[in-house]
Amino acid sequence: MKFLRSHLMGKWIEPGEDSGVHVIDPSTEEPLAAVSSAGVDFKAAVEYAQLEGGRALREMTFAERGELLIGMSRAIHSKRNELLELSMRSCGSTRKDSKFDIDGATGTLYHYGALGKELGETHRLVDGEGEPLGRSAIYWGRHGRIARDGVAVHINAFNFPAWGFAEKAAAAILAGMPVITKPASSTSIVTESCIEAVVDSAVLPDGVLGLICGSIGDLFDHLTGQDVVAFTGSAATAFRIRSNENLLRQSTPINIEADSLNAAILAPDVEPGSELWRLFVREVTREVTQKSGQKCTAVRRIMVPHDRISDLQQDLCEELATRVVGNPFDESVNVGPLATADQLSSVLEGTASLREVADLVAGSGERVDGIGAEPGKGYFFAPTLLQLRDGDSDDLIHDLEVFGPVSTICPFDGEAATAACLNSKGKGTLVTSVYSDQEQWTFDLLRRCGAWSGRFYLASEKMISQAPGSGVALPQSLHGGPGRAGGGEELGGIRALDLYTQRVAFQGTRRAVESFLTDR
Ligand code: NAP
Repeated sequence: MKFLRSHLMGKWIEPGEDSGVHVIDPSTEEPLAAVSSAGVDFKAAVEYAQLEGGRALREMTFAERGELLIGMSRAIHSKRNELLELSMRSCGSTRKDSKFDIDGATGTLYHYGALGKELGETHRLVDGEGEPLGRSAIYWGRHGRIARDGVAVHINAFNFPAWGFAEKAAAAILAGMPVITKPASSTSIVTESCIEAVVDSAVLPDGVLGLICGSIGDLFDHLTGQDVVAFTGSAATAFRIRSNENLLRQSTPINIEADSLNAAILAPDVEPGSELWRLFVREVTREVTQKSGQKCTAVRRIMVPHDRISDLQQDLCEELATRVVGNPFDESVNVGPLATADQLSSVLEGTASLREVADLVAGSGERVDGIGAEPGKGYFFAPTLLQLRDGDSDDLIHDLEVFGPVSTICPFDGEAATAACLNSKGKGTLVTSVYSDQEQWTFDLLRRCGAWSGRFYLASEKMISQAPGSGVALPQSLHGGPGRAGGGEELGGIRALDLYTQRVAFQGTRRAVESFLTDR
């Protein structure tokens, strides 16, 4: 059995024992590797990153740190085929879905690398303009952002083992903070392989990027107010992390990306069969089935005017019928298995709960056998569409995230005010998509529920040729959402650096303040 290693203090650490956590091929149920962080000295690892990694990064300019990110991107890209295969085997992702993760990782690292070059040969970020604070310009004030003097601890969910690590690491390293990243155990074999590529390329100074495979042990006990924790995963784990006594006592900044019941809203002006209607059908289907629905930005609620329901059901069912569930190594397959046995149990249980208030429109709500897989083996679940039953309460639909290829149609009266109210019932989402060519309808909705989602994807006929779908988290735009989505913010171009820098007001002579902030 292969043991996954951690990489800390500039060296690989082989685990001392088999903890019982295994990486399993979800199509065959064969174990691929064991994961354990037993034997890791977390205190020493934190101190090493803070001192060695922090010192190295702080001496570099943004342009130089940008070069590091471009080097990381190239190193990971150089083993792209190996990584794609590893992702197909260990995450159950199809080749296309694996590209979404692996190419998303290298693309985001490259994007932040280029941003670093744009920021140039400087060490500090200015925040707004300077201004006189006294009677004349002698007493001058300006804000700047300074890299925190600690380590960024990143804890990621199982669904994006490459992109999840890369998008967080890119922002922290560019800002000037070293990183210790901890992937979800079940898919950490992909992250370990990405880190191996970076280590082998020797592109980073020691201590800039650490990896923990397995649990984080007592790591939180050693963090201070200069360190940062960024977490992606379930609301339950997020709550545990937020409540950690030492993090609370030290006021350690914590960024949370958690659950989200994203909505796709069809406005009443969209005619069945029109170009925009067809885009809606294609994109909703993709958002339900890509990565087998194990995507934080997947569409969980489909809001449709009453008089469009039967047309939409028919078209969505036709589109879903083109999806073939099975082993990603079978060429006919375009929806892989769920990533773990726990995921399958949780999706089966969640779908059964939704059926208390919603009828099945597509799918059986049961485990299925996969194409190209041994009967009875593998965590396969077919794309499943439900529809809220007339007269039943919709509370559960707006409250229960089933993290698989499952979505529920919620009929509404076609009014923007009603759609806005339903959207807000999700208590805060990562993304809401609205399909309409009537701007006034869309604006009416945005005025009412614009603060309930971190991102609005406004699809109209004019943008069809360039529409990437609502599920793509682009490095230029914020990723995160209010309320149950965790209240966090990632990406959004240079905004991503906010978490890793302290905003400081500098007051003094104009010359001193400006010289320091602009590196002259
Ligand atoms: P999870 O069970 O909460 O685990 C997430 C991460 O937390 C894993 O790395 C896990 O490690 C670690 N962890 C578990 N207990 C911990 C503790 N007490 N202290 C520190 N770390 C701990 O979530 P998941 O099942 O991997 O991911 C699915 C969830 O993530 C879904 O609810 C989904 O909505 C959410 N998600 C959100 C986003 C977003 O951007 N908002 C993106 C993707 C997923 P182990 O694996 O070793 O236990």
